[in-house]
Amino acid sequence: MPSKVTKTDEEWRRELTPEAYRVLRQKGTEAPFVNEYDHVFADGVYRCAGCGTELFRSETKYDSGCGWPAFYEPAGADALAEETDTSYGMARTEVMCASCGGHLGHVFPDGPRPTGLRYCINSAALKLEES
Ligand code: FE
Repeated sequence: MPSKVTKTDEEWRRELTPEAYRVLRQKGTEAPFVNEYDHVFADGVYRCAGCGTELFRSETKYDSGCGWPAFYEPAGADALAEETDTSYGMARTEVMCASCGGHLGHVFPDGPRPTGLRYCINSAALKLEES
């Protein structure tokens, strides 16, 4: 298991870009289609923009058309934490970085094979390390 990263709100606010802070620490959602990685398909690993933990790999990224980066599988079984999110009158499954608790996006059961899952993730919560 990766070690838990705990920082004060003041530390997160200081270290993150305003958009990453809004998404990761305030569960914000960035604008669709115009975000950094929606149409990026370079090889590499996507790390948490908050703590650097490896969250997704480019091999599992696909174009879902939803306007945000979509992956069908996390990088590791322990990379993400999930929670039921009932905001906005919907029952969705929120996904967070298991290491720092940062909000990443949501997972939906309409993804491609082999998992059938669509991890719909805010670009601002990710940092692509190209390989
Ligand atoms: Fe993290």
